[in-house]
Amino acid sequence: METKLIKIESKKDFNKLTEAAEALADGALVAFPTETVYGLGANALNENAVSEIFKAKGRPSDNPLIVHIFDIGQVEMLAEEIKPCAKALMEKFWPGPLTVIVKRKECVPDCVTAGLDTVAIRMPSNEVAIKLLKLSGVPVAAPSANTSGKPSPTKASHVYSDLNGKIPYIIDGGASKVGLESTVIDTTEDEPKILRPGGITKKQIEEVIGSVLYDPALSDPSKTPKAPGMKYKHYAPKAELTVILGEKATEEAQKLCKVSMEENIKTGVICCENEEIFADFIIKCGNSAEKYAAGLFAALREMDDLGAERIYAVLPFDGDGIETAIRNRIFKAAAGRIVRC
Ligand code: AMP
Ligand code: MG
Repeated sequence: METKLIKIESKKDFNKLTEAAEALADGALVAFPTETVYGLGANALNENAVSEIFKAKGRPSDNPLIVHIFDIGQVEMLAEEIKPCAKALMEKFWPGPLTVIVKRKECVPDCVTAGLDTVAIRMPSNEVAIKLLKLSGVPVAAPSANTSGKPSPTKASHVYSDLNGKIPYIIDGGASKVGLESTVIDTTEDEPKILRPGGITKKQIEEVIGSVLYDPALSDPSKTPKAPGMKYKHYAPKAELTVILGEKATEEAQKLCKVSMEENIKTGVICCENEEIFADFIIKCGNSAEKYAAGLFAALREMDDLGAERIYAVLPFDGDGIETAIRNRIFKAAAGRIVRC
């Protein structure tokens, strides 16, 4: 299959979205930019189209998808019940990086929800995404547009390298601003629970609906996560990644890099702008947690492209905002290789 790349540089290019939007409504797969990461979209009400997503990504069928909408009024079409806390969150944080889980209606196909009686819904804030969704006129099921297991794509080039030849359209709208997947909150139980940390923080949520819990599985690997996708390894680069935290992280990274390079292992470092660490490859991700989040997945992919065999990521942020989401993703990618010093 030939993959058509459509570049959108400004609102003037929005007319270039019509063909892909019509194809999307008719059952084709379209990868598109969002503020979190790039999504791989299909008409959520078309079972055949949705099943193509799982094939293109190699995604396990027990991992449900997020349905993307452009108007809060579309929720009623998908949700059996919208609790007041769910409504308050939608009104406050949409459009934006928050996914709200509600009881689903029958019309939502089983392949979207992996057979669960709930559905995950989000309204993205990226203007290109909203325009595409509006033009298609349908709710769009979309997981991240990567091959399952790889870091989520934050640029159209990442999508191209994973899915070229497998899907008919990729919309290029530039780099994703947040760079990590959305916060997922379940509102279907007695107490709302954060199943995945992301761009909207626990504190921001609590300011709107009062105290919320994290899914205990986020901190206890012996528990089964309520979001099926959280049980997978995810986000991993080919290289062996180790995360280094704490006051002496830079010195420790320098020591480890030296040893690694002496063993003739191609060694990369991911760190902040102001660090100087000697390694075969160094990728700097800015000086704030927000910039680190936005650059992390691209850095992991770039390290693979450079041929790094081992990566040390120096993580100087220990706050509980977007930092929680960074730690969640990078710890998973490191599969337990974490050095605290
Ligand atoms: P992705 O779109 O690849 O970022 O993944 C979406 C995340 O939301 C995965 O971790 C899913 O398991 C989770 N998710 C989607 N729908 C539901 C649902 N109905 N209940 C719980 N988790 C869900
Ligand atoms: Mg994903």
